[in-house]
Amino acid sequence: MINRSYKSYINLYESSYFSKDINKAIYKLGKYNKGLLYVNKIGESVQGTPILSLTIGRGSTKILIQATHHAREAITTILLLDQINYLLSLYEIDYSINNMSICNLLKYVTFVFVVLVNPDGADLVFNGGDFIPQEYKDKQYLNESLFSCWKANINGVDLNRNYPTMYPSIDSVIAPAYKSCKGPYYFSEPETYALKCLTEKYRFDGTISYHSSGEVIFWQYNQLNIERDLSIANTISKETGYNLEIEKEPVTGSGYKDWFIENYQKPGLTIEVSPYVGEKKVPIENYKDIFERNKNVPILFAQEVFYKTI
Ligand SMILES: [Zn+2]
Repeated sequence: MINRSYKSYINLYESSYFSKDINKAIYKLGKYNKGLLYVNKIGESVQGTPILSLTIGRGSTKILIQATHHAREAITTILLLDQINYLLSLYEIDYSINNMSICNLLKYVTFVFVVLVNPDGADLVFNGGDFIPQEYKDKQYLNESLFSCWKANINGVDLNRNYPTMYPSIDSVIAPAYKSCKGPYYFSEPETYALKCLTEKYRFDGTISYHSSGEVIFWQYNQLNIERDLSIANTISKETGYNLEIEKEPVTGSGYKDWFIENYQKPGLTIEVSPYVGEKKVPIENYKDIFERNKNVPILFAQEVFYKTI
């Protein structure tokens, strides 16, 4: 049994300054788990908010888990913070999953979590125009009526359309907007550039991109080792109850996981955690079920990648 009652971060889902409160929570986690969890700044958003990573473990299998490329999907930021806390609570009691203790897992695996890729966009969704800098006030695309359904960053670029891939997304637009704009060039945004640098530094063995809409798992991107990646995706589907999306080839996309799979030929999943709720934030009522389905996912994914990519 898990005897440590760990604290959920769900109260931050009603934050009055989302990115600031999330970063505060991250620094606190680092402070209380010194020697086990390390906080690093991997870049800054357009508005200068630090984009932070949390690193746990010291193994040679490196796993990146990231959330909230899309602003209105920030319930996944809460999920990652809770996954980290849950992992720490299992570590404390040396719990085992699939006959592997968490202490051993952290000898084989290094987890890097980036819980909030798009802080400026999330602030627009949570706090409206309160934190828009003066020089952005007259930007036409920053239409206040769209803030509650915002997906892009504050430049109006959809960060998950800003990665270079052989078969780009077919629904991208050129002009800045609340969603779907691919940006002036690949990695044009400081947020995607930060993930590029992080990925080139660590050369991850697997990644999960957390998104929020549709209770489905995307795992394909024209990869060579379909059998391996399908088997990993199936394990996560079984755990979460989310169906696998089977796509027509060639698969198109300009997202992080597409770029990652194409470049590194390592497994990458996009997990959509909530039933479709339309163009808005996921209601807080959906969270309990989301957490239950996803709490073990980083551990199971890391074990699969550890066994299947060595
Ligand atoms: Zn999304």
